[in-house]
Amino acid sequence: MIVDAHSHLELPIPGVIPRPERRREPLGLMYTYQVLGFRNPLWRGAPPEWARVLISAENQLRLSMGSKKHLLERMDRAGIDRSVVLPVAPFSTGSDYLEQCAGEERLIPFTTSCPGDGWEGKLHRDMKGGCRGLKIHPILQRIPPEDAFYFDLLEAFRGYGRPVIAHTGEFHYFVTPDPCSAYGDTARFEGLITAFPDVPFILGHSGLYFPDKAIELARRHDSVYLDTSFQPLRVVREALRAAGEDRVLFGSDWPESNQRFALGIARKAARGDRGLEEKLLSGNILALVP
Ligand SMILES: [Zn+2]
Repeated sequence: MIVDAHSHLELPIPGVIPRPERRREPLGLMYTYQVLGFRNPLWRGAPPEWARVLISAENQLRLSMGSKKHLLERMDRAGIDRSVVLPVAPFSTGSDYLEQCAGEERLIPFTTSCPGDGWEGKLHRDMKGGCRGLKIHPILQRIPPEDAFYFDLLEAFRGYGRPVIAHTGEFHYFVTPDPCSAYGDTARFEGLITAFPDVPFILGHSGLYFPDKAIELARRHDSVYLDTSFQPLRVVREALRAAGEDRVLFGSDWPESNQRFALGIARKAARGDRGLEEKLLSGNILALVP
């Protein structure tokens, strides 16, 4: 059994018009990066400005490819049995994703909330309707991770005993530079993590360009889990050493990366240990979203 802990259906953020008929991955820096196993020979940490612009444009094209039909085809090709799918409010919602996942056992929908009328009622309706966790995305939602909203949200959510997954890592979703990208700084999530030690907290992308920060949080807090999307083998192994075998989850972030690369890295990280491979590829995420 293989379960991808991080993927998306439609995610129509500003500038991204869904084009589900688009089948071909754009062949740019992100493509090259995944082929290289997410090892970057050109720079350390955040990309220089010329590369940032190209990555943002390529990422928008990738996001436009998100759709249920296309995801299921890609899962078949990569040999993935089930995928967690993550909406980001207000661009896509838990009820959209529940509707799309109805009758489709292979997709595991999460919900998402943003400030506004009735978010709490919607959260409870989505969770009771079958969502298995909560996604938060401070950069796209334009809300700093320390904002009272996320504390209120986790307070309302904690009783479900389900995980929250946060996008972590500074990232520019748009070609024009985005000051809110700083909301992705992994260290800024520690207040929330500390306030809700009973809520399993998945650091999506393990901090992206700065995985050391995510690994450090996993060392300090037993509630922290790390997803492997966009991380090279060296980092996944380091994550396993720091967080242990039970708190690292294979994730791809499809359509932002092609599943087979992250899957190959997770398999390699298990070094033929069948027990570890089972935990990393499905057991750990299924324990959180039974
Ligand atoms: Zn994502």
